[in-house]
Amino acid sequence: MAGEVELSLRGPDAYRLARAAVEGMEEHKIWPTPLNFELWVHYVGYPESPLSLAIKQLLHDGEAITEAVAEGLAAEYLPKARLNEEIRDAGDKLNEQLENIAAAIKVAQKSTDAYGKALAGATEELSSPEIVDTEGMVRLVQSLAGATKKVQRENASLEKRLNASTNEVGRLREHLEQVRREAMTDALTTLANRKALDDGLTRQCAEADETAAPLTMAIVDIDHFKRFNDTWGHQTGDQVIRYVASVMARLGDPPRLSARFGGEEFAVLFPTERMAEVARELDAIRREIGSRTLKRRSTNEDLGAVTVSVGVAEYLRGEGPGAFVERADAALYASKRAGRDRVSCAEQVHSEAA
Ligand code: GH3
Ligand code: MG
Ligand code: MG
Repeated sequence: MAGEVELSLRGPDAYRLARAAVEGMEEHKIWPTPLNFELWVHYVGYPESPLSLAIKQLLHDGEAITEAVAEGLAAEYLPKARLNEEIRDAGDKLNEQLENIAAAIKVAQKSTDAYGKALAGATEELSSPEIVDTEGMVRLVQSLAGATKKVQRENASLEKRLNASTNEVGRLREHLEQVRREAMTDALTTLANRKALDDGLTRQCAEADETAAPLTMAIVDIDHFKRFNDTWGHQTGDQVIRYVASVMARLGDPPRLSARFGGEEFAVLFPTERMAEVARELDAIRREIGSRTLKRRSTNEDLGAVTVSVGVAEYLRGEGPGAFVERADAALYASKRAGRDRVSCAEQVHSEAA
């Protein structure tokens, strides 16, 4: 096989060779016609072949590989690979498709099965021994064009689908977050609700059991609230509850938790804080609440002041949430019995032992 070169591009090698050929053409400023491409595939695939040695000599001599020179090389070394006009016209297209494939290969690094399949078809075409003849070249160009378009289409629709589902997941997550927030929020006061308080209480008691860190709780109850309701009606009662809640909210930066316990009662958890300091802070809140003269929103009538009674307890390691709340409640009722509008601290002994 003196002047002839047998070409067999197989499997993934086909892409490697095609890329190397294009790179080599770029490097030597060779116009990317189909003929030159074919010569360069031989050149990079069979560097020791007579054709490749002839090209190497030309490059070494600094000789321009013009169209005529390429024709000469092909005539001498590739008698089977004479390309017709049709293919020649497709030169630019081939070049374009090769560029597209290079781009698609880059994209395919963030790969999907779809890309893999589309590219596999093109690779198969490229690895066909028929590449050496004219019809094979036509099919190759068509196959590469088709595969590339398919990859691009799939890439675009995949991206669209990914974007759509990303947006959908985002909306869903926001919605769930909102539902979760609502499920944990008291609608009247926007403080945490009873459920959030119970969850927090269970968690914080377990934490205190484990770490022995302090945990304090306060229960706040509006004094003689029934009178407000009976005198001014339920709506004005709600207004008073909201007012007390708005003052209580100032206590509630996490990890603290201010909650509406129910009715006209509130509870606040103070993780890692001691009872004495919490009692002082609650006393300031109590005074603040009682310092304002409330006005009935609908008629602007004076409602007078509203006062609160408070019970504070510090968690006893191992007692559990139920006993803890009971002691805070007992302290609250001590405040009520002693005349209301005050803060009382719980006994710091286990109730069983008391
Ligand atoms: P004390 O000083 O002993 O706490 O007396 P009080 O009147 O505040 O306590 P009591 O438990 O006798 O009355 C609480 C009232 O709160 C009874 C109930 O009708 C009212 N209440 C409970 N929840 C709400 C609510 O969401 N809105 C209004 N407006 N009233 C409520
Ligand atoms: Mg009450
Ligand atoms: Mg009350």
